[in-house]
Amino acid sequence: MRQTTLFIPTLKESPADAEIVSHQLMVRSGLIRKGASGIYSWLPLGLLVIKKIEAIIRKQLASIGAQEILMPVIQPAELWEETGRWEAMGPELMRIKDRHDRAFCLGPTHEEVVTNIFRGEIKSYKDLPINLYQIQTKFRDERRPRFGVVRAREFIMKDGYSFHSDRTSFDQTYEKMFTCYSSILNEIDLDYRAVEADSGNIGGQKSHEFHVLSDIGEDTIVCTSEGGYAANLEAAVAKKSEPTDSPLHELTEIATPGVKTIEELCAFLNVPASSTLKTLIVRVSDHGEETVSKNSFLAVVLRGDHDLNLTKLAKQEEVLGEITLASENEVRKILDAPIGFIGPINCGLKVLIDHEAFVSNNLVCGANEVDKHMEGFNSERDLSSTDYRVTDIRNVSPGDKAVTGEGELKFFKGIEVGHIFQLGTKYSEAMKASVLDESGTETPAIMGCYGMGVTRLVAAAIEQHHDNEGIIWPEKIAPFFVHLLPLNMHKSDLVREIAEHCYDELSSRGIGVLFDDREERPGVKFAEADLIGIPHRLVIGEKGAQDNLIEYLTRSSKEMVKLSPKEAIEKIVSRHNSLTAEI
Ligand code: ATP
Ligand code: MG
Repeated sequence: MRQTTLFIPTLKESPADAEIVSHQLMVRSGLIRKGASGIYSWLPLGLLVIKKIEAIIRKQLASIGAQEILMPVIQPAELWEETGRWEAMGPELMRIKDRHDRAFCLGPTHEEVVTNIFRGEIKSYKDLPINLYQIQTKFRDERRPRFGVVRAREFIMKDGYSFHSDRTSFDQTYEKMFTCYSSILNEIDLDYRAVEADSGNIGGQKSHEFHVLSDIGEDTIVCTSEGGYAANLEAAVAKKSEPTDSPLHELTEIATPGVKTIEELCAFLNVPASSTLKTLIVRVSDHGEETVSKNSFLAVVLRGDHDLNLTKLAKQEEVLGEITLASENEVRKILDAPIGFIGPINCGLKVLIDHEAFVSNNLVCGANEVDKHMEGFNSERDLSSTDYRVTDIRNVSPGDKAVTGEGELKFFKGIEVGHIFQLGTKYSEAMKASVLDESGTETPAIMGCYGMGVTRLVAAAIEQHHDNEGIIWPEKIAPFFVHLLPLNMHKSDLVREIAEHCYDELSSRGIGVLFDDREERPGVKFAEADLIGIPHRLVIGEKGAQDNLIEYLTRSSKEMVKLSPKEAIEKIVSRHNSLTAEI
């Protein structure tokens, strides 16, 4: 493609709202333009990248037998009412009405639509398994759209759905999909981790997220360096500590005037946070909002150095509604003590205590009296007259022992680019999508769903592949493979002749070439070439041209070699062919 004919509106400055490098570079290199908060247009270069990523996804999915379909963006409310998600999705669901006042939404995901297709057509186990996917624009009215296309309100997703009559078949497809996602991310050349994820309230089901490692990632992922364990912090567990047999101190009340936080307590007593206890009062039932009834609250107890894991807490049987932290007033009413001095002993509430707090000896906790704490707290002894249950409700910490027994846990930040998920029969039961099994009995189909964020992948790739000058596209998703930079071509017939020859030759051999045929100064051309980040570059100058030499370099190394046009073309063609030969 000749650059004079291509719309690449580059910018020297980053837009004010672009907080992260990929967002800045995507705008500066003319890949995207903002339409509204979280809503973007994709310009020619950006769209070429999307198409490359989509092609990789299509190729890999075809290799495991998934079939592409295209479902409507607009979905009737009735389908969402069948699964209860019309209510449950809340304000994230973009809702519209037609001229007859009928309610619809703009699809944020397509479980309902695909299950509706399935139930209308498939009746027998003989027609299963079936594995369908689409690549399509999704709409989610995110509470906080940010980071450009990373968290957008309109974005492109590959979403796939599989249907099975038995568990073995499902497990096979899940495994294949796991491998397929890994292959896609390897092809794009991303440093990623596949991690165990929380599967929401569908208990006991498998779910994996694929995270591209990046400091701007919104998720914390936990891995061992040995690679044996990897999980999202929300779902991560650690090896449980054994109880210690150190002698138990006597429980003693101590004066702690004005000492309210764990930090203040540690400083006041000169003890580490791991020797203290944290007690949080949380409301766990939506009922009786107005009245402060003790039954609606729980005392959640952790070691002072540990943080509460809300995802784990939400799954506890005592939690019946949304979790909210009790207000100062509510705490006073329930415990007759202010926040800062509360503790579990005889607190009158059901106590959920984290395992690590339970097995630690001689801790300091609140005394349920202003300006007082208790020293020498030992759970089993001191909670004997309190209603309590021991469970895992904490975030793991860096350095914790892995549950697999090998290695220590390390923390990383990740951008979630894919999520594969076992839905079980949640949707098939709600929507009565059943098949007849071998014995002729109607059974709800077992479903899996598999999402991958196509537009988010573009940003994630840039986060991992850039330098101070601009983008360094991984070869397989670059908008063009070669950038042809003739210098002062308008003044030299020789330069023009060689450039035109390289362009024709490379193009005819199936290679994407961006031909900078503009009358720009060399400095401008180089700066823009660095910004745009095409992986291979050929520079043609008058001096070299006279000796039949052109300069070849890659965007990543910038190491330049002088070659004849023929040699340079062969080098690029052979690199290109070796890449396309890989599967
Ligand atoms: P997140 O936790 O980031 O909100 P999610 O769990 O809501 O993601 P899924 O519903 O599993 O995401 O969607 C599948 C994939 O779609 C995600 O892995 C991600 O790559 C992409 N995705 C989700 N939300 C957005 C968004 N707002 N903008 C861009 N891509 C998104
Ligand atoms: Mg989301």
